Amino acid sequence: MNITASRSKELIEIEEKHGAHNYHPLPVVLERGDGVYVWDVEGKRYYDFLSAYSAVNQGHCHPAIIDAMTEQARTLTLTSRAFHNDKLGKFNSYMTSYFDFDKVLPMNTGAEAVETAIKIARKWAYEKKGVAETDAQIIVCDNNFHGRTTTIISFSNDENARKNFGPYTPGFIKIPYDDTEALEKALQQDNVAGFLVEPIQGEAGVYTPADDFMRRSKELCEKYNALFIADEIQTGIARTGALLAVCGKCTCEGSCERQETYARPDILILGKALSGGAFPVSAVLADDDIMNVIHPGQHGSTFGGNPVAAVVAIAALDVVKEESLAQNARELGNYFRKKINEYIETTDTVTLVRGRGLLNAIVINDSEDSDTAWNICLKLRDNGLLAKPTHGNIIRFAPPLVMTKEQLDECIDIIIKTLKDFE
Ligand SMILES: *Cc1c(COP(=O)(O)O)cnc(C)c1O
Repeated sequence: MNITASRSKELIEIEEKHGAHNYHPLPVVLERGDGVYVWDVEGKRYYDFLSAYSAVNQGHCHPAIIDAMTEQARTLTLTSRAFHNDKLGKFNSYMTSYFDFDKVLPMNTGAEAVETAIKIARKWAYEKKGVAETDAQIIVCDNNFHGRTTTIISFSNDENARKNFGPYTPGFIKIPYDDTEALEKALQQDNVAGFLVEPIQGEAGVYTPADDFMRRSKELCEKYNALFIADEIQTGIARTGALLAVCGKCTCEGSCERQETYARPDILILGKALSGGAFPVSAVLADDDIMNVIHPGQHGSTFGGNPVAAVVAIAALDVVKEESLAQNARELGNYFRKKINEYIETTDTVTLVRGRGLLNAIVINDSEDSDTAWNICLKLRDNGLLAKPTHGNIIRFAPPLVMTKEQLDECIDIIIKTLKDFE
């Protein structure tokens, strides 16, 4: 039934003919979005269960975000940081109070923010910890995903992302994910600048570590005087049922430092939903003793801190609080996993569901190189729901957080009905 109508087909062909083939998209051509829905060029409506890799947590084209963006776009878009603009100060004070850090450094894409965190951590190691210059090491995890720059792919172990892009940037030590023993061993070298980690490994297939992994990692970093660096680009901003995934099972809306499970990062990396998917906005947050290693001329970006990004991020974060998105993600996530688990009891098609909040994945009971997960996603598309396999036989489910319980019920019906076709 994999019908791709003629207009869609035409648009896909022209895209592939003239564009580099660096993605393998599901064959569907979208032209409009509103809240939890997107529409293709034939007018068919779908539930979006990817949310642009969790960038669209606030829902497609949220009116508050789009209003802020269009008004600013008509007024002033870019000054560069050669001059001040009247929105950056407000963004800086809003961000630092929202996430409880002394300072913020604005960038645009996630990978740029990770690069920024790496540079800050290295400089901190040389200037504050006393590591000999060029000796600093950053500990990272197997199966990490932190972006696509040459330095970041240097410490990936995804062959596809790495092969023939060398020579690779040195200075990274890889340990297994969710392994505090390996972390402690690695931290014992005295040239370690920090530990860069995803609180849940999204791209790898929504690998969810032990509940105390973040807190124990933070304690170990403190013990060995290394920076605890959390990449919350995908997990942050309410996606996992708390403002940040390092908040663990915390149930408050922000101000999470009061909770026992909170593992406060020394460096926090944000992107994706920081703009609600309207505009590329990323940021790195840290306290003065760390951020102040950066002086004028040592790091920057032409677009970083532009006034459109500033007002878009403020509007996007306002929405998260005003619409209680963390609470909604937490409640709907628990319900989703309960319902899918009930189905798993009855079938051999799906091995398990895992995740936190509305960042979840199911593992299909087939070999890693089978195309079953892909075929299920094609069928989900036909049934009005868009999702994509992450690695091999794993399908991620991450709808916008503005979803209602009634909508989620309809989606669960679509998912289970589709999976039953593969039994
Ligand atoms: C998406 C992502 C990135 C990279 O963000 P880009 O905006 O694509 O550069 C980095 N880290 C994590 C955890 C991500 O999910």
